[in-house]
Amino acid sequence: MLHNITIRNTEFSRISEVDFNNIGFGKIFSDHMFLADWDGHEWTRPRIEPYANLSLSPATSAIHYGQAIFEGMKAFRNGDDVFLFRPKDNWRRLNISAERMVMPEVPESLFMDGLQTLLSLDKSWVPGNEGSALYIRPFMFATDDFIGVKPSEKYCFCIFTCPVGPYYSKPLRIKVEEKYSRAAQGGVGFTKCAGNYGAAMYPTKLAQTEGYDQVLWTDPSTHTLVEETGTTNFFAVTGSGVITPNLHETMLAGITRDSVIQILKKENILVEERPLTVSELKTLYHEGTLKELFISGTAATLINIEGFAHQGKYFDVMKTGNTQISDLIRAKLDSIRLGKTDNDFGWVKNLIKA
Ligand SMILES: *Cc1c(COP(=O)(O)O)cnc(C)c1O
Repeated sequence: MLHNITIRNTEFSRISEVDFNNIGFGKIFSDHMFLADWDGHEWTRPRIEPYANLSLSPATSAIHYGQAIFEGMKAFRNGDDVFLFRPKDNWRRLNISAERMVMPEVPESLFMDGLQTLLSLDKSWVPGNEGSALYIRPFMFATDDFIGVKPSEKYCFCIFTCPVGPYYSKPLRIKVEEKYSRAAQGGVGFTKCAGNYGAAMYPTKLAQTEGYDQVLWTDPSTHTLVEETGTTNFFAVTGSGVITPNLHETMLAGITRDSVIQILKKENILVEERPLTVSELKTLYHEGTLKELFISGTAATLINIEGFAHQGKYFDVMKTGNTQISDLIRAKLDSIRLGKTDNDFGWVKNLIKA
């Protein structure tokens, strides 16, 4: 290990208070967290501390001007083994976000050493029941106490973890968004910066009051091209293969998206990354060739879309379709993440020796 990480163990583990059969999503936090400080020149004081509130100045730059970025990844238990899924891709993407937000780069060694030390300490928090995992939240935020819009000099990098169950429990009803936008050309849609999610809450709330679970974002200039949902990428299964919108700057390049594409290819299922319009989706639906819709993300994994609403009309895809391809890909992905299937893609890392 390159970094000399100071460890302060908790005196009171909370693990015995947790009902692992009823953990929900994102409400329970493991015993420890990893922290490091950027002092304007280098990362300093890499350390593990008991999970606790942070003490911050009310003038903390991130709260006012939004230099705050995050990642989401998962660890899975298979017996005594704990597997991480594509952690290097999350590290790489964190730094893509960091560059756009004028924040310091996190070296791979700091990210991985911090992660490994934290997970070794809290490995008993990785749940083993079906559908559960340890959700890992690496994030960075600006810590200067200074009022004035400029890049902060100081930053905090932190990792904490939560044992989680399934994010969604049933197929989703989604609304094609035609008024609001999640991201714009030249903007920050391709990053996981905090502001993207705050901006999406109002249109999502409106969709929810209309009876939908999520918004399906469209391109910001014409609202005719399908992009993604709030935290997941979008796939349409037709009679001849799978279509997913091609990536561009208003979209987030999901690691689960990439994994789904690679698994589809390996299964010899035709997959096209290309522009997908709402009207094409509707045409496929009317022709009876729109078989399945699903979304992919680390938190949600693979979730079926029941149907989508566009201009006041609801298209119930599940009523006439099936879940054949999504079930197949979900099963493949699950077994890879649990380290059960050959690690052909090299995606699974056993960082923690049990
Ligand atoms: C995180 C995220 C995704 C999914 O990315 P994964 O790497 O698969 O978890 C998709 N869209 C948005 C907007 C996201 O924030």
